[in-house]
Formats: sequence, structure tokens, C-alpha cells
Amino acid sequence: MVSRVIPVDNFDLVIFGGTGDLARRKILPGLFRRFLSGQMTEGSRIIGAARGEMDDEGFRTLVREAIAEFGGREKNETDCIERFVERLHYVPIDAMGEGGWTQLRDLMRLDVVRAFYFSVAPSLFGAIAERLHKYEIANADSRIVVEKPFGRDLATARALNATLAEHFNETQIYRIDHYLGKETVQNLMAVRFGNVLFEPLWNNHYVDHIQITVAETVGVGGRGSYYDKSGAMRDMVQNHLMQLLCLIAMEPPSKFEADEVRNEKLKVIRALQPVENHHIVRGQYDAHEGGQSYRQDAENPRSFTESFIAMKCHINNWRWAGVPFYIRTGKKMKARSSEIAVVFKDLGHSIFEGDEARHRNILAIRLQPNEGIDLQVTIKEPGPGGMRLIDVPLDMTFSEALGPDAEDVTDAYERLIMDVIRGNQTLFMRGDEVEAAWAWTDPIIQGWEKRNDVPKLYDAGSAGPDDALMLMHRDGRRWRDIKG
Ligand code: NAD
Repeated sequence: MVSRVIPVDNFDLVIFGGTGDLARRKILPGLFRRFLSGQMTEGSRIIGAARGEMDDEGFRTLVREAIAEFGGREKNETDCIERFVERLHYVPIDAMGEGGWTQLRDLMRLDVVRAFYFSVAPSLFGAIAERLHKYEIANADSRIVVEKPFGRDLATARALNATLAEHFNETQIYRIDHYLGKETVQNLMAVRFGNVLFEPLWNNHYVDHIQITVAETVGVGGRGSYYDKSGAMRDMVQNHLMQLLCLIAMEPPSKFEADEVRNEKLKVIRALQPVENHHIVRGQYDAHEGGQSYRQDAENPRSFTESFIAMKCHINNWRWAGVPFYIRTGKKMKARSSEIAVVFKDLGHSIFEGDEARHRNILAIRLQPNEGIDLQVTIKEPGPGGMRLIDVPLDMTFSEALGPDAEDVTDAYERLIMDVIRGNQTLFMRGDEVEAAWAWTDPIIQGWEKRNDVPKLYDAGSAGPDDALMLMHRDGRRWRDIKG
């Protein structure tokens, strides 16, 4: 199978924060991969803009090193790396100051797509947006890309939206949630809306419940002080898990177009019921087998911040009435594993005498590791001895099903940046979506803050606190195993 790469228009992409962690780990190696694939044209350029003093050559060295450290097998393509770095420039700019902006303006070309990636703290977004206009660097076609966190509650998200709206139209603003750039997440839409098989079953007549798990093995060490002010609810649920939930639950859009898709996602968020307190389990990892506890990692011995959260949610609409959505995410869990599982209802009646087992079809969409989809089906156990039934997975691991091409599955960041250049906002969050997500999240957080709730401790390397298991056990259900 040969993957088809369609080159994008020539562009000048300015990365504010071009020397930072995100730029070095994700954005720049990702752009190199797009260059290597032929998608980023020879006529395109990347301009790093950050606070530190540096010249073009210094930035090129930084990017060579970033590719060597964070790139995949492409890091051995030395000739191409050299051709790529020729397209790099650097302008020292302090977002809050006035130096460097005219130099940036003079560097930018008029006849190419202009995009500005704000890979800096959100407190700088306003200053950068304002100066891009003041110095006439951005025009009506320019695009800006903004990183999470997009606010820490509804009020701050609204303020951020208002700040950006002073200088840019909604059609120019790309709020990135890299989960939406993942291959499998898009495949979720392909599976739902490209097959006749699933959509008729995608409702409360056939679906028993849905589970969404995003488990990480890493702790918060390194970014503990930032994380401690945020917690799993703000850091993961309000954005990534909510986006996954929207894609699984939304009505079919009439077209795969930005506003059609985003309108449907917004309806899901607005239909989410407030979550009752006894349907929420917050956890915090404890020291285990020589590892540090959350409180040690966060350097806050009295922290009540959650590094784990599990919740049972409901969507108030015809399709999903009565179907629980169990979601959980945590740090220092037993394996790195993210999946969405659609668990279908039991058969109403079994014709196979003596078969007591509970057979269920489960459609599991794995985001990591081994992106792929598997469908659990019931078949006859091979061999003599009558009709004994077993459940087996029909597994479509992309790397197996698609061959070597799957190894080149485009990383989320690079895919999304190419979408920015193409002007396709489908996989980006709209301002009203982000605000609606906070409007649902805020009362939940305020609830536990008001009650001074203390998160339950769980052993690092486990599946989270026992209470999270109880959340499902009480309903006669259980979480799927977290497997790496
Ligand atoms: P970082 O601290 O590693 O880098 C920050 C960058 O901003 C540096 O290049 C620095 O020079 C520049 N900078 C700081 N102050 C500046 C100023 N006044 N003017 C101009 N440039 C300035 O941060 P990071 O981890 O790269 O994160 C950048 C943004 O991306 C943050 O908003 C972060 O929340 C978000 N983010 C990061 C990650 C990640 O994996 N690192 C993931 C998701 C979102």
C-alpha cells in the first residue's frame, strides 16, 4: 500500500516559543517528518521566535539536536536534515516587549500562508496577538495555533477567547488538542460513519455502556508545580477525554466539515448531565516500591490535587438516555494504555443450552499503544464436544493490517499543523466548545473544592484507587484491564 501525500501550499510558520520543550519534542521533529514525506514544500519556512538571543545558525543547531533526540528513524536522514534546516530562521522576541517585531515583519513573505504557533504560556497569548497586528505581521488570512491549557475555568477561557477575538476571527483560530490528531481518533469517525455495520447499533437499545480510559505510567515529576494547580480533571478530562466522548457520542454530521462536526460535538457537551458527587472518584498516587509519592513529586506535602479521576457520566438525549459513560484517567498507572470501549448489551436469549457465560460484543478502539481497533465476537470453541462458546477478538492492529505504511502513521502534531496550513479546522476546538466544556467541568471542581475532598491514595503501578473499581462494581460492571 502506498500512502498518498498531498503537498500543502508554501507557508511561513512562526513558532513563538520555538526553543521550548514542546517545540523541540513535537513540533519541529514533526515538521521535519512532513518535509521528508514531501508534504512540506521546499518553498516553506519555519521561523523560531523566543526570548533567548540566538541567530539562525544557533536555531538550526537546536533543531538538528531536537531531531536527533526526539526523532524516529528519520533522524538518520542527514542530507535531508541539512536541506530542512536551511528553511529555518530565528528572531529573538520578548512577547511583552517591542524588540524584534519589525525584524519579523520584514522576514515574512506576502505570497504564502502565514501561520503563528503560540507555543508559550497562555499569559502571553494576548501580548503576541496584539503585536502581530500592531506591527502588521498578521493579515486577514493568517492563522494562529494556540496550545492547551485553554483557561483553567469558564471565566479564564472566556477571557482568553475575548482577547484572541480582539485581533482574530474564529476562522483564524486553531485551538489544538493533539488527541484529535491521532490516527485512531479519526478512525473512530471512519468506523462510525463509513460503515453500515455500527451506526444502527450505536444507541441505548444496543449499547450497555461505554468506557474511556487514558492511563499513563509517568508521574508528574518535572512539571509537578504546574500540575499541582491543575489536576487530572483540568489537565485531561476537560479537554482530551471530553473530546473523545464527543466523537463517540455525537450525531452523524451531515458532512465531514469543520462546523458540521463541531456543531455536533457541542450538542453532546451541552447535553452532559451534571455529575453527582458519588459518581466521582479522585485519587492520588502513593509511594510504591521505591518510587516517589505524588506529594513528593509535586513538592507539596498537603496537596489535595488528583492525579487520577474516574467518573460516571450521562448524556441527556434520545440516543444515550440510560447509557453510562465511565471515564478514567491517571498518572503512574500499571500500564500506558488509552482506549475507548463500546460494550454492547447481552443477548436477550441464548439458544445454546448449558452456556451460562455472559457473551458480549465489545468494540475497543486503542489509541495507545499499538493503535488499532478490535471487535470482540462470540464463536464456537473449535473441536468436538458440543457447542461451547468463546469470545475472541477480531483484531485490527494498524501496524499489522496496513503493513510498513502504518509505521509511518503521522504523529498528531504534524498532522494538525498541516491542517492549519490547509485551513481545515475540523480537528480543532471551537471557542464555544471549549467554553461549554468548562461550563460542565467548573461545578464538579467547585464541588470538591467546597467540600475539601481528599483524594483516595492508590499505589503507583496499580489501576487506581479501589473506589474506582467499586464505581462500576456497584452497577454490576467492571473496567477493562489496563494493558500496555
Ligand atoms: P517551555 O517553558 O519549555 O518553553 C517556553 C518557550 O517560550 C521558550 O521557547 C521560551 O523562550 C519562550 N518564552 C517564554 N517567555 C517568553 C516571552 N516573554 N517572549 C517570548 N518567548 C517566551 O514550555 P513548553 O513546555 O514548550 O510549553 C509551551 C506551551 O505549550 C505552554 O502553554 C504549555 O502549557 C503548552 N503545552 C506543552 C506541552 C509539552 O509537552 N511541553 C504539551 C501540551 C501543551
